[in-house]
Amino acid sequence: MNKKAFEKNFTGKAIYTAAVVFLVGAIVILLGKSFLVKAEEPVPLPVIMYHSLCADTPSEYAVTPRQIENDLQWLKNNGYQTVTAQQVISHTRHLETLPENGVMITLDDGFYNNLSVLVPLLEKYDMTAVVSTVGRYMDNDAVKDPHNPKYSYLTWEDTAELVKSGRIELGNHTYDMHSLYDGRVGCSRNAGETEADYRKALLADIQRLQEEFRENIGFYPVIFTYPFGSVSRESLPVIRDSGFLMTLTCREQMNYITREPDCLYGIGRYNRSGLYSTEEYMARLFNS
Ligand SMILES: [Zn+2]
Repeated sequence: MNKKAFEKNFTGKAIYTAAVVFLVGAIVILLGKSFLVKAEEPVPLPVIMYHSLCADTPSEYAVTPRQIENDLQWLKNNGYQTVTAQQVISHTRHLETLPENGVMITLDDGFYNNLSVLVPLLEKYDMTAVVSTVGRYMDNDAVKDPHNPKYSYLTWEDTAELVKSGRIELGNHTYDMHSLYDGRVGCSRNAGETEADYRKALLADIQRLQEEFRENIGFYPVIFTYPFGSVSRESLPVIRDSGFLMTLTCREQMNYITREPDCLYGIGRYNRSGLYSTEEYMARLFNS
């Protein structure tokens, strides 16, 4: 081979090698990218919202013990598993990965039947739930007429029992803003109230209940649940600054959990009205 022919042959080989390296590299990058994108897809998280569990006659905000047991049985039989708020929080921080078949169970207002009816069912079906309580109901109402499964609220001792079960996480449902009176709807800003006055009122209410949690239970909950789902533009900064990592609303929508902790502010939930059968309700929850 003369020098010219050698050079021609060498250049051809070099171009061929470079092309192969480029192609293989491109394939590796594209494949890697598609795996990465897949791993980071948001995880759907349907959330159920119950209230009282001991109705004789089911209503929009009360189911019967039979209905909630049917619901839990349905979830189990259809391959769903409950996830805790802590698991969801950990997912957003890359500390763990949520399952694709997760569902979160929440209960609002803190009825005594959340202890007497729910905890044994959670044990039976190996599930967990979040119970959001109202401070004033616990301090004033629960002690006056305790432990009636039909209508009583949880006392602080009952709430400690919930935590001891290892199956319940607690949420702050305000100390005394769970009402539609005095012009204020839940914990939203009043018409005519200055922004500073609103912030002060909300902060005082939330912190009062947080301190009572710490005194009675030993920790500050990180879940805040808007009464009636009512919220103002000025609410979240106060709630976030108070240390809450997740807020629960009454917006009936599916959640998509990403690796971004802020996606937990404004979790949607489907009210479990007792007026639906288990199958009708689950169809709404999972086919939304
Ligand atoms: Zn409520």
